[in-house]
Formats: sequence, structure tokens, C-alpha cells
Amino acid sequence: DINRERVLRKKYFNTIEDLKGKIRVYCRLRPMTPAEQRVQHSVADVVDPYTLVINTPKGPKEFHFDRVFLPEDTQETVFEDTHTLVQSAFDGYNVCICAYGQTGSGKTHTIIGDDIQPGLATRTFERIFQLTEDHQAQFDVQVSCSMLELYNDKLIDLLRLADQTEVKLEIKKDKRGIVWVQGSRISPVTDANQLSDLFYRGLHSRHTGSTRMNDRSSRSHLIVSINIECTSRLHGTVIRGKVSLLDLAGSERFAKSGSSGDQLREASSINKSLSTLGDVISALASEQPHTPYRNSKLTMLMQDSLGGNAKTLLFVTASIAAFNLDETLTSLTYASRAKAVTNAAQRSADCREIARLKAIIQKLRRGEEDVED
Ligand code: ADP
Ligand code: MG
Repeated sequence: DINRERVLRKKYFNTIEDLKGKIRVYCRLRPMTPAEQRVQHSVADVVDPYTLVINTPKGPKEFHFDRVFLPEDTQETVFEDTHTLVQSAFDGYNVCICAYGQTGSGKTHTIIGDDIQPGLATRTFERIFQLTEDHQAQFDVQVSCSMLELYNDKLIDLLRLADQTEVKLEIKKDKRGIVWVQGSRISPVTDANQLSDLFYRGLHSRHTGSTRMNDRSSRSHLIVSINIECTSRLHGTVIRGKVSLLDLAGSERFAKSGSSGDQLREASSINKSLSTLGDVISALASEQPHTPYRNSKLTMLMQDSLGGNAKTLLFVTASIAAFNLDETLTSLTYASRAKAVTNAAQRSADCREIARLKAIIQKLRRGEEDVED
């Protein structure tokens, strides 16, 4: 059975490996709060782990994803499917994990979480340094982090020290196509705690800046990049990869009647960057010859982490409560655009295969535990 598990595991990882360059879209449904439960009903039926039906007054609407996470699915479950992607960064891929959805749907919960239920960030940091240890014998591994906020089309360096003067940040691309931000701070880190501390310090400065408006975090994009550089101890060759985590601005339309001035500018900047991100992802998914990266700062910044040799995971977070129906439909439709028209079937077959293999591996494991018990 151990041999069988080995074979299955190899097949499982190969199937995941095959997903490179493609975009995976996961849907995560937020549980209703007790207050919502008292007065709202759920509009969502999860048919199977890939199919979600939203019941609208005009009838049911079906959506397909690479995975649908239920309201009761834990942070561990969500990370389980993601952590193999972190390994890819050690193999030289750029990995991009982003959360998209209306304010209050669970983006920050998914990416950051809290002390009791840490999200993808902390888990990713820990995984990176576990892998660093595993690689120690063969590689000298250097890890560094940068943390930016994009607000009103302006980049802000969240790792800049309080006494540092503000410098103009500019997005640059080197000969190898790697994007970097001139003037931003890239901090080297040597363990998961140090990276975590740095991350929380950056988050803190996102929330406390003097000109910051109340709840501004839902109207700006957070972009955390962890660079991983592995130098072979034997050959001196260097493998570079990175993991980027994005907590995007709320996707709801702010440009309601009555907004003007700053509010309108803010709204149009968010709408522009999110719609461009959608255009880029759908251009990649449908293999269009032109990808409109240059249409927004967000996509320019993420150019080396979307498409090409990158592995992208888009979490669309959504509320199941009836009063959010319109926003939920809009978010799910946006995310569906990211799914390739041509190879959706293939990918969902891949995902089914992954789920099947994983189930067998888990069964084998359980069998072994029984034997040991
Ligand atoms: P967003 O960042 O999209 O605005 P949040 O992540 O802040 O939304 O979520 C809003 C609230 O709902 C928070 O209190 C969060 O803890 C809770 N929440 C979101 N998603 C989940 C989930 N999957 N399970 C439990 N609580 C959640
Ligand atoms: Mg948030």
C-alpha cells in the first residue's frame, strides 16, 4: 500500500504540475452571520465540489469552478489545496494567489485571517520556511519580502520605515520580464516569525497612516510578494521564484448616484483596475494573442505573475445571503470569465482527477492509521 500511495502521490503532483500557466478559480462561500440567519435565506446550492447553483427570482443559475468551498470549510481545508503551489516558487515559478469579491465576503479572512483562524498568508510563510529547510542541503535559499498598497492608482510602500522620506515608486520590468518596483523596500527575512512580524507591521501601517480614511482597506489593493532565490551549492546556478498574495479592493460598484469628487475618482480607479484584471485573466484563459497588462497599474505590477510561466489562483469570495444576491451574481460572473471557454472541460477533468487521487490517498492513509492503532 505504501508503494501504491507513492505512485498515486506522484500522479497527484504531476496533475497539479500540469496546471501551470493556467488559472485556477476557486469559489469560497462565506457563512451567514447569526443576524443574517434570522432574516435571510441562502440563495446557494452546492451541487458538487465544482458546481454552484444560485437561485435567482428568474430561476437557478449554474456556475462551475475548479473548486467550491462551503461556508463551513476551514482555513486548513482551503490551504490544503494551495500549499503545493508554494513548492512551485522553489522550482522557479511565480505564484499569484488573489482574493476577489464584494466587501464583507471573506477576502481578508481568506488571505490574512485572524489569530484564531490564520489565513493563507501565515500558512504560506510557514510552508516557505519548511521548504527552505528541506532545500538547505543543496541550496542556499534567500527569502525577501515587499509589501505594497495600491490606492487611487498610487503605490504606497507599506514596509517603508517611518523616518524614511517618501520616494516615488515606479513599476519596472527587467530583461527577463521580472517586474520590480523602483524605490520600494525589499526586506530580507530568515524565518517565518520574522516574515510574519514584518507582514503585520506592514498591515498596521496600512491601517494607521495619517491621511487614511475609515475602512480604506476595502478600497485599496494589498500586494505582498515573497521572493525566493535558491542558489545551488554545487553549481552556483540560481532559481528565482516568488509568491504574491493579493487582497483586492471590494468589487462592489461604488459609483452610485451621489458620489462625486474623491469618491468618484476612487470608485473609477477600483473599477478600472478590477475590470482590467478580469480582462487580463480572461484573455489568458481564452489564449487571446494580446493581453492588456498595460491598462492598469495593478496588472502591470502583476504582469510576471499572471500567465506565461506563472501559476495563478483566484479566490472569488461570495455571500450566500439573499440580500447580497446581485453582488454575488456579479462576482461569480466575473470569476467565470476567468475560466477558459476552450479548456474548461479539460481543467475540470484535471481537478476531478486530483480530487479522486486525493481521496484514494486519504483512504490509504486512514487504512494505515487503523493498522497502527
Ligand atoms: P472582506 O475582506 O471581503 O471585506 P472579511 O474577510 O473581512 O471580508 O470578512 C467579513 C467578516 O466575515 C469577518 O468578520 C470575517 O471574519 C467573516 N468571515 C468571512 N469569511 C468567513 C468564513 N469563510 N468563515 C468564517 N467567517 C468568515
Ligand atoms: Mg477586507
